[in-house]
Amino acid sequence: MTGGNKKKKVKTIKIDTDKCNGCRACEVICSAFHAAPKYSGNNPARSRIRVIRDPLADIYVPVHAGEYAVAECAGREKYTIDGKEYDECSFCRASCPSRPEFKEPDSGLPLKCDMCEGEEEPLCVKWCMVDALTYEEREEEAEEQEEQEELEIGLESLADKYGMQKLKDAIARMSKKD
Ligand code: SF4
Ligand code: SF4
Repeated sequence: MTGGNKKKKVKTIKIDTDKCNGCRACEVICSAFHAAPKYSGNNPARSRIRVIRDPLADIYVPVHAGEYAVAECAGREKYTIDGKEYDECSFCRASCPSRPEFKEPDSGLPLKCDMCEGEEEPLCVKWCMVDALTYEEREEEAEEQEEQEELEIGLESLADKYGMQKLKDAIARMSKKD
């Protein structure tokens, strides 16, 4: 017999698009925190949060990088919220072949938000001066085995697409300590 239920901590960042002014401070600090060595650079292209912007329409949507998607989806809905029209992709967190966001510029490997592992509070939340981002934690039941399977499936599809050596090189580079 395996497993049994155990508690897992779920970390979330709530986003208020009405408050976001598109300053991109969140992109700067995220890319700096994940630079190797840490804080040695701040290229927003390496950030795990990207602000989808359409200044003429007053649209700013901060999106945290989520799961890697092997193929782009077919969905291209439009949403109208408070008179503003948004593309479906504006809210999507996937590192997906159909757009440049959430890919490491050197290798093309997908980037994913890690909630600033090791920090008390996500740095993008801390650096957002207008409180467009709010950090929350809650506990949920978790199946240990399920988590392990999800991780294995994710790693397998990355290795299939990019090759094992490239994957190993990128992991080594990203986990380099300062
Ligand atoms: S720091 Fe806050 S206001 Fe600035 S772009 Fe990011 S979410 Fe928006
Ligand atoms: S929580 Fe940390 S890793 Fe995630 S987007 Fe914000 S700054 Fe980047």
